Amino acid sequence: MKRKGKLAIQTLLTRLGNNPKKYLRSLNTPLFRTSTVVYKTVEEFLKFNAPVHTDGTYGRTGTPTVHELQNALAKLDNADECIVVSSGMNAITLSLLTFLNSGDHLLISDAVYPCTKRFIEEEFRRFNIEYTFYSVDSNPSEIRKLVQHNTKVLFLESPASGTFEVQDIPSIVKVAKENRIVTIFDNSWATPIYFQPFDHGIDVTIQSLTKYISGHSDLILGAITFKKKHYKKLHRTFLNFGTIPSPEICSLILRSLKTLHVRVEQQNKNGLIVAKWLEKQVKVAKVLHPALTSFSSHKLWKRDFLGSTGTFAFVLHNCNKKDVYKFINKLKLFKIGLSWGGYESLIIPYNPDRISNNNSLLTEFHVRIHIGLESPNDLIDDLDKALKYL
Ligand SMILES: *Cc1c(COP(=O)(O)O)cnc(C)c1O
Repeated sequence: MKRKGKLAIQTLLTRLGNNPKKYLRSLNTPLFRTSTVVYKTVEEFLKFNAPVHTDGTYGRTGTPTVHELQNALAKLDNADECIVVSSGMNAITLSLLTFLNSGDHLLISDAVYPCTKRFIEEEFRRFNIEYTFYSVDSNPSEIRKLVQHNTKVLFLESPASGTFEVQDIPSIVKVAKENRIVTIFDNSWATPIYFQPFDHGIDVTIQSLTKYISGHSDLILGAITFKKKHYKKLHRTFLNFGTIPSPEICSLILRSLKTLHVRVEQQNKNGLIVAKWLEKQVKVAKVLHPALTSFSSHKLWKRDFLGSTGTFAFVLHNCNKKDVYKFINKLKLFKIGLSWGGYESLIIPYNPDRISNNNSLLTEFHVRIHIGLESPNDLIDDLDKALKYL
């Protein structure tokens, strides 16, 4: 696998967050829970407790467990810094509110994670922040035309949530750089294993650690990763908003990182087996998976990504909403539920109305699927039986 840096990613993952010298020879980082940090003298206390933000004065700035996870995630992204926050959603809201002030303008694709969209539509008005949702299939020169004098942030998510279109990241980043616009990239789908945002010029990445990084559907956490020059601004909003992660959950993520590569690689393989099978079924009109050569933006995916994960979508042939519901209800192995990236296969109906303003690519009611760690043959059997009811 091509990746900048010295160690292969598999090797790096086995070492991240381990610091036996620092932690009484314990291979894994212990769980540190604390609110209060104590000092030998008043002078020492006053030095740390200066009227500026400093680390290590109080549990809210993070315990060693939190800091080890932040360092690990920064290294995984080949970035300088990382802040771990309470959820992926919190990583999105905090990074947007860090770089946007009253009177500023945000450019963002119309096929982002639906809750990202909802946050903007429901909350931005009272901050007096303007926004434009551009169609996810816009080319870079169409996006350039939407830049305003007050555009300060360009937010990208690629592949798109639920519909999986891949955007031309390097060309869009170029437009942003020409106009001194900060780029924020939601990398939850590919993870740093399959997409390295900083190699493509992105300024800030956010991740829902809830998904592939945790991999066990038992926690919620988010991360913001970035280069040093953004540290002061991001760290300030992080501390002022107080949206901190719990050290217990950070400790679980440090554990999950060790198996991240094996999990996503297996899900990548299983996902492709199922996607290729679905593509051959007469009752399936199309499969929305960036790694399939039949997919509209496959070439962009192939150029920029190092692999795919097991989350994709498909459209059933000539099926309305009721048919889609019926198909899903007949499945036995696939569970109906939100999120993805865990060990178990999940499925939900996806209503494009919810995500699209103006994009003709996204008009069909379809099915979003997450392939877990089960045998793909069992999953295919399950899908095959349910398709027969249509
Ligand atoms: C789930 C998700 C989020 C939000 O993450 P939470 O950890 O659930 O808050 C953000 N972006 C994408 C692409 C997601 O799928």
